[in-house]
Amino acid sequence: MRTKQFKSESKKLMDMMINSIYTHKEIFLRELISNASDALDKLYFRSLTDNSVGIAPDDFEIRIEIDKDARTLKVIDNGCGMTEEELDKNLGTIAKSGSFDFKQENEKKENVDIIGQFGVGFYSAFMVSDKVTVESKAFGSDEAFRWASSGTEGYTIEPCDKETVGTTVTLYIKEKTEDENYDEYLDQYRISALVKKYSDYIRHPIRMEFTTKEPVETDDKDKEPEYRDITELRTLNSMIPLWKKAKSEIKPEDYNNFYKDKFYDYEDPARVIHSKTEGQATYSALLFIPKHPPFDYYTKEFEKGLQLYSKGVLIMDKCADLLPDYFSFVKGLVDSEDLSLNISRETLQHDGQLKLIAKTIEKKIKSELEKMLKDEREAYEEFFKAFGIQLKFGVYNDYGMHKDTLKDLLLFRSSNEKKYVTLKEYAERMKEGQDAIYYACGETDEKIEMLPQTDAVKDKGYEILYLTENVDEFALKMLGEYDGKKFMNICDDNLNLDSEDEKKALEQENTAAKDMFDLMKESIGDSINGVRFTNKLKNHPVCLTSEGGISLEMEKVLNSMPGAAENKVQAKLVLEINAEHPIAEKLKTLYNEDKDSLGKYAKLLYGEACLIGGKSVPDPAEHSALVCELMTK
Ligand code: ADP
Repeated sequence: MRTKQFKSESKKLMDMMINSIYTHKEIFLRELISNASDALDKLYFRSLTDNSVGIAPDDFEIRIEIDKDARTLKVIDNGCGMTEEELDKNLGTIAKSGSFDFKQENEKKENVDIIGQFGVGFYSAFMVSDKVTVESKAFGSDEAFRWASSGTEGYTIEPCDKETVGTTVTLYIKEKTEDENYDEYLDQYRISALVKKYSDYIRHPIRMEFTTKEPVETDDKDKEPEYRDITELRTLNSMIPLWKKAKSEIKPEDYNNFYKDKFYDYEDPARVIHSKTEGQATYSALLFIPKHPPFDYYTKEFEKGLQLYSKGVLIMDKCADLLPDYFSFVKGLVDSEDLSLNISRETLQHDGQLKLIAKTIEKKIKSELEKMLKDEREAYEEFFKAFGIQLKFGVYNDYGMHKDTLKDLLLFRSSNEKKYVTLKEYAERMKEGQDAIYYACGETDEKIEMLPQTDAVKDKGYEILYLTENVDEFALKMLGEYDGKKFMNICDDNLNLDSEDEKKALEQENTAAKDMFDLMKESIGDSINGVRFTNKLKNHPVCLTSEGGISLEMEKVLNSMPGAAENKVQAKLVLEINAEHPIAEKLKTLYNEDKDSLGKYAKLLYGEACLIGGKSVPDPAEHSALVCELMTK
């Protein structure tokens, strides 16, 4: 028999488990029971439609056996079991279903931290054991195999005898040390308390033979009392699912432990929503808003959904119809009295009851978020940093169908103290005479502040929303207005901050310089729609503004999308020149005296405007040559 090596990440994890100084070593039992329960669920699920399973619903169980002399603790289940390949794959590599990129985290975090931070699963057994064996017989197979490992050197897999389908995990408990009393994991009271503490809600019975002493009756009153051992099989867990218990009986850590265990998170949830609803739809819901996105949240692989139970029995692991996309970060479950056990995905979609439940769930999540925004601003901001982008997509998607549901949950940073504001807050503190909600787009707040247009708007005392995510401007466009106030990009050509007199004066100047601008446009080419003077710049000589609906930022986003190459979008750009800047006079002089140089200056200014606006210069080589020509003049 050959000893196989663990995959490298698993080896590191194993090392940590063995040498762990983690104080919550006891969680190993929860992990093993959880695995056993999952295995039972899988086979139970199958038994609903497959008679060959041959186990009655009530006979699925988890057994715990303690042998003090042999120093072993066994966790036994009659669940789905594992084949030889599965033993190899599942226990030779760190859990693929684990919610965590081990390598990356491992670089940063300390030993102790890691263990507390995520469900370590099966490997946690090595925190308390010198050796672990797993004997398993998969459902549908007549062979059984034994996986065994004493630590990092590797593991072996060999055939073994096992009558029944399922898995027996045997821990060879470490000897007691000065620091750690491992003997407690061989104590029936301690084990029973651990089951109660971490696994009470597990819906399969967790049974253990319990030995108690009973005095032996005797007629001889003078004799020392004698005792005899009574052994009985006890069920250690109440099996009442957490969500079915009265709220008053549930402690915050019960919710937190349940969440972390069930949804593979290393952090407590940000919010718990536990509700029982009666009426048109009767159901219990236990929902969690995580503190951070799971590692695959922003990938294709991520599947949204809530677990769906019918009268306490899991019927679907990820019921997508229960959650709108914009709340896809919510984890949790729904248990309904009204759904049938073997309902299929297809029939579910048309289930009126389910639609009703989904509606009320959406309302509950929304009102919880609103409450958080109102009462716990800081926590909400943290939430928004993690999931705000999802809400913004929600505004934009489905042709804006959900924008009214979501608009008051949005936050944007703004020029006022660079803190987050809601649209409502913005609207409420708008200055008198301000009739639009101003925003600016850029990669970062700093880059937005450097936009030439920013100063003029700030000078008026108007607040500017800083949009730094690709989706931001699209979401605002979809909203169109808030509270009757239009959204206005400060780079829009009709920003309109001037008084009537100022406007008139500028118009006259622009008309007078029309021929000059035409000439400039001609040398710059088709990338712009026109050139003109502006009043809206304070210190900067030039800027780019856009006419029509597509801004410079939207042009960038749209053109970076897959398939955009053949169908490039172009913002209609106008090169605006600060009428008060010395360059304006210079241009006029050149127009009269040196038209050739005017053309070159026009190109240079356009290049500058591109750079400032975060757009690439169309011809960098030419731009550079022109700069050098100017420098050597
Ligand atoms: P996780 O439970 O997070 O997936 P584990 O390391 O605890 O990670 O387990 C790895 C995998 O091994 C499980 O996903 C499961 O497929 C399998 N496994 C573990 N214990 C059992 C068991 N008692 N019965 C069947 N399969 C099991």
